[in-house]
Amino acid sequence: MKHLSILGATGSIGTSALEIVCMHPDRFRVNALTAASNLPLLSRQIQQFRPDMVAVLDEDKARELAEMLNPDARPRILFGPSGYAAAAAWDGVDTVLLAMVGAAGLKPALAAIEAGKDIALANKETLVMAGDIVMAKAREKNVAVLPVDSEHSAMFQCLLGNQTKDATQLFLTASGGPFRNTPRAKFAGITREDALNHPNWSMGNKISIDSATLMNKGLELIEAVHLFGISHQNIQVLIHPQSIVHSMVGFADGSVMAQMGVPDMKPAISFALSFPERLDTGLVFPDFAALGALTFHSPDLSRFPSLTFARKACERKGTLPAVMNAANEVAVQAFLDRRIRFSDIFTLVSTTMSAHTCIDNPDLSGIIEADRWAREKAGSLIK
Ligand code: NAD
Ligand code: MG
Repeated sequence: MKHLSILGATGSIGTSALEIVCMHPDRFRVNALTAASNLPLLSRQIQQFRPDMVAVLDEDKARELAEMLNPDARPRILFGPSGYAAAAAWDGVDTVLLAMVGAAGLKPALAAIEAGKDIALANKETLVMAGDIVMAKAREKNVAVLPVDSEHSAMFQCLLGNQTKDATQLFLTASGGPFRNTPRAKFAGITREDALNHPNWSMGNKISIDSATLMNKGLELIEAVHLFGISHQNIQVLIHPQSIVHSMVGFADGSVMAQMGVPDMKPAISFALSFPERLDTGLVFPDFAALGALTFHSPDLSRFPSLTFARKACERKGTLPAVMNAANEVAVQAFLDRRIRFSDIFTLVSTTMSAHTCIDNPDLSGIIEADRWAREKAGSLIK
């Protein structure tokens, strides 16, 4: 029986993870759940999974949640950053699924590692901001960081049974998003609805916009650098519109291994939760005969400069990746709130990165300060 803490339980990854738990009640027990503010869903999850504790965004939400629950079936309710950290470090938990969105995931990730919990990592922003610190801490505490992101799960699976030193190239695949074939001139007119309408994957709002700008692939490039200890120069991004090959690893002898499946996050989530075993997720295999062909091509960096921003962040290191991430979070939220145009997202990220005075080898407080600076800078640019 594996004991789980699920951070971001009401999101796309969180709800898929709980579906897997439901399919395998003999394998998993849920001890802790967290959410920001979707209390109706969280309260249903509490009734179903009976966690010992939950954490929500703030004190008002905690009070509201307590009122929604029958006193005999009420778990311990905590809130705010300390509540999320407590959920991540909860006694008796073996594995923490980090599926909250954005920079808010960093401190809970460190709390979980500090408490010696294995990590199933969906929250890529954590590694983008502070990959060196997080991975060093994980090594020090001897905890596993198991990727949930489908591309990184794919690479991880291709590496199993091989030596990491023999992996000379990673091939990071991308669907290309809804605007794969949209001319640049039309970018300014893209609406929130167009951008949220991803062709292959159903995901939360933030990552859906990141997929549309290809910033998701930029974040994943940096995530891969930290997870696999490889230079970004040895990671090739490939547009693969069918989203069947989730990523590939090339080895010194010229062999390439690919991991495939239908575009669904459940295999990657379940593998991170049950590693090294594989669980039935109820999914069917891709219909290869109907697909006919799997295609690959290079991304168009002139239309999607996010990948160039991410490579620049990889080269410069220090606080620049955290700045890129924070500026992007502010820009995506502003686009979702209809305060800026789609094309402004690129300008905001690029201008904020250019204005930043980068600090080398920052500690955690240096990264948090850079994140704060970038949010303020991007916010002032929007005004
Ligand atoms: P989502 O928006 O669907 O869900 C986010 C969850 O985090 C919700 O439970 C929400 O309540 C919680 N949350 C939001 N803001 C918070 C805050 N400030 N503090 C605490 N909790 C907060 O997001 P998602 O699509 O499930 O993505 C979650 C993470 O997983 C992201 O980092 C994303 O990049 C990554 N990821 C998602 C997918 C996917 O298919 N959805 C795939 C790969 C990686
Ligand atoms: Mg991904």
